[in-house]
Amino acid sequence: MQKLPMDLTGKNILVAGAAGFVPSHVCQLYLEKGATVYGLDNFITGSKSNIELLSKFEKFHFEERNIFESIPEYKDVKFDYILSLASPASPIDFKIIPLEIMRVNSEGTLKLLELAKAHGATFLEASTSEVYGDPEIHPQVESYVGHVNPIGPRSCYDEAKRFAEALTMSFHTRYNVDTRIIRIFNTYGPRMRPNDGRVIPNFVNQAMDNEELTVYGDGSQTRSFCYVTDLVNAIDHVLMLGDHMPYNIGNPDEYTIKECAELIISALDSKSVLSFKELPKDDPKRRRPDISRVMKLGYLPKVTFAEGLEKTASYFKSLK
Ligand code: UDP
Repeated sequence: MQKLPMDLTGKNILVAGAAGFVPSHVCQLYLEKGATVYGLDNFITGSKSNIELLSKFEKFHFEERNIFESIPEYKDVKFDYILSLASPASPIDFKIIPLEIMRVNSEGTLKLLELAKAHGATFLEASTSEVYGDPEIHPQVESYVGHVNPIGPRSCYDEAKRFAEALTMSFHTRYNVDTRIIRIFNTYGPRMRPNDGRVIPNFVNQAMDNEELTVYGDGSQTRSFCYVTDLVNAIDHVLMLGDHMPYNIGNPDEYTIKECAELIISALDSKSVLSFKELPKDDPKRRRPDISRVMKLGYLPKVTFAEGLEKTASYFKSLK
């Protein structure tokens, strides 16, 4: 098996969406490995504090940009890797900024792919488990083509990511660009927005404040949660060692949402109780990645849900 390169000194990496939760951890990993990282973000959902944190590294360069409008020319840089990580990804974003989501994953991704073609760079598209929609097979394998509602409340994200995958694959087949597609499953950890609307930040913050935990539906729907450092490690494996076919990345450790709520209450020693709310339309019933493909590259998730929750809770506490 090929080994993961640990020293990336001399490599230039462009990260679109650098101020976001997962991308900021990706930037950090590559800066720690010695690469020069160029970040782009328009702060639509990303946070300035992530950029401040990354700016402590000498080899981090940042430009505020909306990549579906334009990207810098980068005349004096030759990129080795270009990472398309710029999309808002929370269901609350789908309601508020659906057109921005569709444009960044189409026009934005196209601009990044053209740049990768011009630079001879390896291109990575951060796609999502959402391309499977409400899946009819379980666990989800990469060969499953999905069950997506094209006009539902999640479609601006699901279909935009399906388009981004198609665009990426077309640049590979038509222009022989070295491409990667990752399908990210539910990820959590420090630097998530506390008001992100997703289940882990909601439950952890509610439990810390001894407020009711808002379980949507009867809480029998499942998700499989991956701690952010594991996810970033999986991205590194795919980028450095993978091929152009899609990779599921995440942690197959699966919980019902009700179990997840109960675990968080007990881990935080909280007095909260559960409060059941209406289930949003098209909410996937079960989700668990089959990660055998990425495991063949040497990836294995390491952080348990209990450890990850503890780290996430101390992060949210530090913000109070
Ligand atoms: N959810 C919940 N309460 C919340 C937020 C989310 O019960 O306060 C549920 C949501 O309906 C879904 C699951 O938790 O079934 C995961 O939701 P999230 O928004 O984190 O991500 P998704 O996997 O749906 O994109």
